[in-house]
Amino acid sequence: MDDKNPVSGLESSITFAPQILERKSATYMSITGPKNPKSNLESLGIKNTKKQFWNLTAEELIEETIKRNQGVLSDTGALAVDTGEFTGRSPKDKFIVKDETTKDSVDWGGFNNPVEPAVFDNLYNKVVNYFDGKDVFVRDCYACADDAYRLNVRVISELPWSALFAYNMFLRPKNSELNTIEPDWLVIQAPGLKAEGVKDGIRQHNFAVVNFTKKIAIIGGTAYTGEIKKGIFSVLNYILPHNHKVLAMHCSANVGKSGDVALFFGLSGTGKTTLSADPNRPLIGDDEHGWTNNSVFNFEGGCYAKTIDLSAEKEPDIYKAIRHGAILENIGFYEGTRTVDYSFKGKTENTRVSYPINYIENALPKSSVNGEPKNIFFLTYDAFGVLPPISKLNVGQAMYFFLSGFTSKVAGTETGVTEPQTTFSTCFGAPFLPLHPTVYASLLGEKLRKSNINVWLLNTGYTGGSYGTGKRMSLPHTRTIITEALNGRLDNVEFEKHPVFGVSIPKTCANVPAEILNPRNTWQSKEQYDAKANELAIAFNKNFEKFAAKAEKEILDAAPRSLQLV
Ligand code: ATP
Ligand code: MN
Repeated sequence: MDDKNPVSGLESSITFAPQILERKSATYMSITGPKNPKSNLESLGIKNTKKQFWNLTAEELIEETIKRNQGVLSDTGALAVDTGEFTGRSPKDKFIVKDETTKDSVDWGGFNNPVEPAVFDNLYNKVVNYFDGKDVFVRDCYACADDAYRLNVRVISELPWSALFAYNMFLRPKNSELNTIEPDWLVIQAPGLKAEGVKDGIRQHNFAVVNFTKKIAIIGGTAYTGEIKKGIFSVLNYILPHNHKVLAMHCSANVGKSGDVALFFGLSGTGKTTLSADPNRPLIGDDEHGWTNNSVFNFEGGCYAKTIDLSAEKEPDIYKAIRHGAILENIGFYEGTRTVDYSFKGKTENTRVSYPINYIENALPKSSVNGEPKNIFFLTYDAFGVLPPISKLNVGQAMYFFLSGFTSKVAGTETGVTEPQTTFSTCFGAPFLPLHPTVYASLLGEKLRKSNINVWLLNTGYTGGSYGTGKRMSLPHTRTIITEALNGRLDNVEFEKHPVFGVSIPKTCANVPAEILNPRNTWQSKEQYDAKANELAIAFNKNFEKFAAKAEKEILDAAPRSLQLV
């Protein structure tokens, strides 16, 4: 053996007991790890696997990943992996099976691409057969921190680090539960399987197909972990409003010392994860929540943060969470080191890290709180630089902005997006909403009308000009503005109405320069600002046409009005 190899030195000096590392299987010799003895993969059609690894610990999954050369450790102990061809979600390759369960309830079109049950069955067979002769990793976990809505999810994957992702991101059952747990839903992921596109009834070689009747999501041709997380999110966005009248939301949430909950809605890259990590407000969750009659709860048990240009100064809580157990995706190291270079964009701008939520120091131990939100923030990344850094919305405006879901897609999170692209993503989550937007909007509307909730619109995108001339809103300013709003210090300041959007802009906000509050002041050319505001107003009105027939007067009254320009 090679003398320089530290492991070989270890073997000769220590009595090594490999049998303690090999846990005894419950049923077959080829099965390792705790499992429900009543569960098996064979009944799913996964019949000829090599070895089955059930519910390995994070450490074991990290070891399996490294053993297979699928990942390396960073100098802070995080596991760094490369997700391969896909470094973001692929919304065009997401499908829902159209059958008796879904045909009248799903809002078909847009992101909800239908496929026949036979298309699913064919792909399902390909997926299960794909595991022939391969090792397979199974992780039992659950979604929804409120026990009344708990959904057990079994993730079955080809990759040990996908199982670790499931462990990090979903809620973790107690070890004692692993021997009895029964899944409600299955996610079967086969990243190495390439489908035949049109011949298989889909678009190209990769796919994510959800079958609500069989309660199975299958993912093939992509190893991007976000497909697993957002697959179950889409499932909950169907089940919770449809079966339980619970509002499912694409938002982050935290809670103040007095129990006041804040929600941060926003599309990818708008700041949900970044802005909800607040040393003074325990974190409930960073991305997916439910709102019942009397509680707000996280669907997940982990966070999935963007790491591009991350720094300890700007995002200390996230920075500290990147340690043993966390998975870094598609990052680069400084040459000759294992120190992450967070500025590296060589693979993608959508570099990410996943970690269990308790890696954030002040996360709530149970991500479910009783009580109503007191403040709601709509985060928008306005690449036009038109919307103010903060403004207050009345109920009609809140509904109007919620249904509109205006933002820009930032580079990377979706395949093919390389610079900010203006988009209207209804309810700030169109890619994940199987039901008609008005289902979510009317649940929100009921809640807003019932309680006295402040709704704020935050622009975390551009200021001083549009993308290209302006610059990104300062993160410290955005944080300060949020703190001021949450502490009630914007309740009694003077406001002015935005001439086009009608939203109320505070004239002052402590610790933030007053001149940045009205975006018109930040543009060199006021004429250009007014023209851009008009352009955006036209885009809003055009987008809203599809809702106009159904919307009430109060909401329609909130539509922006173009200025007469001379
Ligand atoms: P996703 O749904 O994809 O998880 P997200 O809404 O959680 O997206 P974040 O992960 O919080 O988005 O990403 C926001 C990014 O923008 C971070 O990289 C953050 O550092 C950066 N950023 C820069 N300026 C601001 C600002 N003013 N407000 C918020 N985020 C900012
Ligand atoms: Mn996020």
